Amino acid sequence: MTLDRGSVGGLTGPVSNERVQVREYAMALAHVASLRSEDPFRKVGAVALDFDNRVIGTAYNGLAPGFDPPEGFWDDREKRQRFMLHAEINLCSLFRRGEAKLVASTTMPCTACMQTLCAYGIKEVYYRDVYHESHASEIAEVYGVRLERVSEYPLKGFGAVADETAAQG
Ligand SMILES: [Zn+2]
Repeated sequence: MTLDRGSVGGLTGPVSNERVQVREYAMALAHVASLRSEDPFRKVGAVALDFDNRVIGTAYNGLAPGFDPPEGFWDDREKRQRFMLHAEINLCSLFRRGEAKLVASTTMPCTACMQTLCAYGIKEVYYRDVYHESHASEIAEVYGVRLERVSEYPLKGFGAVADETAAQG
């Protein structure tokens, strides 16, 4: 059976009763989380699933909780970078080592985030946007973590989507 919902706020195309893959499900959740980012230059979302594919939590890049940025804070794109807490780091604050199996992030984790995900015992990492300056691929290979790109998933195109080639930070 196929239902056609037409176009409703970016939710387009036919809906089939085919079950969505776990990694696509995860990427759609990461995508939605990215919409909550306050960073005007780079919005990154991430989600962690446990070993039963249940959602542990979602996170996005932003400033430390409770920090109220002074006026003009967002004007300097370069300077703001050092204060931004990456989505994956915020995500790791939601669980303990060994609790999460899978992480999906809308951007390939940077080197530091990939190291952190390894430290938390993550087995599978999925990303949408390539981040060329990251050593994530090399780190994943050494530690035996599955690292794969997922560019097709439900809700793709919903809301604001960052440039595919833009650097994270
Ligand atoms: Zn990072």
